[in-house]
Amino acid sequence: MRRPALRTFVLVVAALASATSLSAQQRAVIGLDLAGMDTTVRAGVDFYRYANGGWERATEIPADRSSVRASAVTDQRARTQLTAIIREDAAARRGSGDRQRIGAFYTAFLDTVTLASRGMAPIRPLLDSIGKIGDATTLARFFGSHLRADVDVLNSGAMHTENVFGLWVDANFDQPTRNAAILLQGGTGLPDRSYYVDTSSKMVTIRDAYRAHVGRMFAFAGVSDTAAMARTVLALETKLARVHWSQEDSWEPTKGNNHWARADFRTKAPGLQWDEFFRAARLADVDTLVAWQPSAIAGISALVASEPLASWRALLTYHAVMHRASELTPAVDRESFDFFGHTLTGAPQQASRADRAVAATSAALGYAIGRDYVARYFPASAKARAQRMVTNIVAAFDRRIDGLSWMAPGTRSEAKAKLRTLRVGIGYPDRWPSYDGLRLAADDAYGNAERVERFQYAQAIAALRKPLDRAAWVMTPQTVNAVNMPQRNALNFPAAILQPPFFDPARSDAMNYGAMGAVIGHEVSHSFDNLGAAFDSRARLRNWWTPSDSAHFAEVTGQLVRQYDAYRPFPDAGVNGRLTLAENIADLAGITAAYDAWRASLGGKPAPVVAGLTGDQQFFLSYAQTWRAKFREPALRRLLLTNGHAPGFYRALTVRNLDAWYDAFGVRQGDSLYLKPAERVRIW
Ligand SMILES: [Zn+2]
Repeated sequence: MRRPALRTFVLVVAALASATSLSAQQRAVIGLDLAGMDTTVRAGVDFYRYANGGWERATEIPADRSSVRASAVTDQRARTQLTAIIREDAAARRGSGDRQRIGAFYTAFLDTVTLASRGMAPIRPLLDSIGKIGDATTLARFFGSHLRADVDVLNSGAMHTENVFGLWVDANFDQPTRNAAILLQGGTGLPDRSYYVDTSSKMVTIRDAYRAHVGRMFAFAGVSDTAAMARTVLALETKLARVHWSQEDSWEPTKGNNHWARADFRTKAPGLQWDEFFRAARLADVDTLVAWQPSAIAGISALVASEPLASWRALLTYHAVMHRASELTPAVDRESFDFFGHTLTGAPQQASRADRAVAATSAALGYAIGRDYVARYFPASAKARAQRMVTNIVAAFDRRIDGLSWMAPGTRSEAKAKLRTLRVGIGYPDRWPSYDGLRLAADDAYGNAERVERFQYAQAIAALRKPLDRAAWVMTPQTVNAVNMPQRNALNFPAAILQPPFFDPARSDAMNYGAMGAVIGHEVSHSFDNLGAAFDSRARLRNWWTPSDSAHFAEVTGQLVRQYDAYRPFPDAGVNGRLTLAENIADLAGITAAYDAWRASLGGKPAPVVAGLTGDQQFFLSYAQTWRAKFREPALRRLLLTNGHAPGFYRALTVRNLDAWYDAFGVRQGDSLYLKPAERVRIW
């Protein structure tokens, strides 16, 4: 997981771990971390600290992490459960099918003795083939045969690939019953173009460290003149970064949805031998592709023609080694962590090989493991409870649409139709994807990683020839997260997020709606954020808004952009209100719908008081406690530049826009978080 997710909720949970003064039973009954609060600060002055100041003081970021969030408890439990499943499969030596695959992948990844003894031998054939690239045709074929299904804008927000291009196969935005092949920019090692073009001293330092790291990777590859080679790679990557699109532009489906006939790539993006590229990529029979960042694709193609072959060979060599660092020798693996883990995110220590083996196996064979995970840890009662909450929150959202005075009747009826046709997946997919044909060996970590990538690519290519499967899932059941897919008008709520303490039947409804309810509301609301609202009830990318509705939406969302632009954790770096807009809209609309649904669930009765806290106080505190987060500085800076989510401590402040929060905590004019009623943003 090099890339954080975008259109997802990301990591939330009411962590109870730091309430040390209470017994476990008391904590379970109360359901809020009272000791984790800091009531010496007024809620209206710093609500995040009011809810989480005690936790903030008591919590250290683990040495192998770049951040810690409230979800650490859920993550840890899921990891323990997955480890148990995977180890059983690894111990069952005569397993077959998926059990054999899981066991073999895990065993091979864990076997660092074999990795050390093989040295660079597994990658030698690939490096030799790069060394033999002697003309533009071979280069184009190499690019094509190494294209992977490794990017995905709207589901996981994975927009970075070291390959010159990345492929995303998903709904055709113009005809959403079909799939489309979507081509994205790539070719750089650092997380975003700003790492190459920003002239601040922080970024200059990172680039110097990167150049030194690239040089050391060349030494592992047995290359001479490593310093000159590293300079060449950085120079070429910088040229690529200069033609790349920014994060903000890349998130926007209306900017990305450019359908190009395959034959037109030659004229629209001259340079690369496209016919050779598409043939090698097994896309030669696809008539139309989507060029997501057209000027970047043209720019990269031009560089393919203008830059010396030797520079491309250097770039490919470095990326080949870097990409497989985890499956080469422990020394290469450590070098990769030293730069990408330590320098880029600030983590002092790499996660244990065992934890990484579990994560890698779960990434490679997620649904095979997910099937066992669900059978063991996700009872039908949990699914039914989650289903009820979803129904209540969707109904609350529907009532809010009815109450929007600014919306024209046509826009309103399409919005309601969109809500009606929303496909909600809870826990796990109806049909489990198959791994038939994927061969994995217990003594070949390098080969396994290669075969998994090729298998995933073959599946993506095969999907192009079939109708879109709206029931397919994009998140495994063991993922502590949730996602909205506007291009399919569908939601996934994986089993792992629908568990205590995130949703806990032992605590009050107010707390459950403040935490899990806000997650559900957040995902439903993504259908109506600035990106989701661009898709209609049939999941077509089509403007279904009247001009005056659009103007109103632009005005209120502009207010929200300004509200978040003002959050600045560093003097020289702050939240990008535009980049995080979709998530901030979803947070705001989500907590609003969750609050409504909770009030409606009371049926006119007063909410029970718990530990002296009113129902409203429980709701908002529970919400704010899901947003606990501490970051190492480089990780926070990277998040600000590349992540569609604002840091958790600002997401907790969404409450400033809800009148009920002011009443619940006596927030008044003069408090720093106070917004005049007219400044409180109301969108849905
Ligand atoms: Zn989201």
